[in-house]
Amino acid sequence: MADLQAILDGIHAELSSRLGEGKVADYIPELAKVDPNQFGMAIATVDGNIHSVGHADVPFSIQSISKVFMLTLALGKVGESLWNRVGREPSGTAFNSIVQLEREEGIPRNPFVNAGAIAVSDVVLSGHAPREAIGELLRFVRYVADDETITIDDKVARSETQTGFRNFALANFMRAYGNIDHPVEHVLGVYFHQCALSMSCQQLAKAGLYLAARGTNPITGHSVVSPKRARRINALMLTCGHYDGSGDFAYHVGLPGKSGVGGGILAVAPGIGSIAVWSPGLNKVGNSQLGAVALEMLAARTGWSVFGD
Ligand code: GLU
Repeated sequence: MADLQAILDGIHAELSSRLGEGKVADYIPELAKVDPNQFGMAIATVDGNIHSVGHADVPFSIQSISKVFMLTLALGKVGESLWNRVGREPSGTAFNSIVQLEREEGIPRNPFVNAGAIAVSDVVLSGHAPREAIGELLRFVRYVADDETITIDDKVARSETQTGFRNFALANFMRAYGNIDHPVEHVLGVYFHQCALSMSCQQLAKAGLYLAARGTNPITGHSVVSPKRARRINALMLTCGHYDGSGDFAYHVGLPGKSGVGGGILAVAPGIGSIAVWSPGLNKVGNSQLGAVALEMLAARTGWSVFGD
């Protein structure tokens, strides 16, 4: 395998003059306070090695990357019947778009746009109090990352609860169509807390390993999902993981990935490893600007694109 540490060091050095590019998410006040001049990257390989660079041990708000873990939980709970409530097609619209939801009668396009993720949270909430559902997610993420120190940042969750008007609109809209079973405040309580998970690149890269290794974390031996399910989650990440920037991400990087407005991206190189990058400045569609550039460099230098080297 290529010298991954040298590649990471090279990417970091080349991007150092560009730190601060993009715009930090400011519609969630607590995220607006984050220093944009930070950059971290970590790779966890299926043979058990971890390489990292920059601020790879600094926890950040993983935001929508949490949707991958919630999707895994929801599929474990209700299996393929999840797809009666959420689609599997790229949206071509913004992450928080309402328009499409009305046209498609309350069925969100995919589990990674906000509406779809809120429906997924509703599924995970089923049979639980909100606090228990949040606890279930936290236990799951600690399990897949093999790290008991991972926490949820309550300040971020509170900040979004106070300002997440569009998410309230989406949830109410779906409830009106019968696609949300629980009180909207409960569902969003779960959703805002999952988005407020605080993880470093190193923790995130380890947490994503099951997706790179046919559903089983190769370091711990923990079986998380079947190989078929891991493959399918990767397919959804590739086609829908970057909102209306998904095509562009596939074109430039060529790896399944999921972004979050905290500036993180989790990418998966099937059979090879899991990569996490963090740089808070976002591009116009809400994905980490330098994070995507860094992953493009990594894919080019390693030949890891799923479409060939
Ligand atoms: N918590 C954010 C929201 O619901 C997540 C968006 C994202 O990370 O893309 O607006």
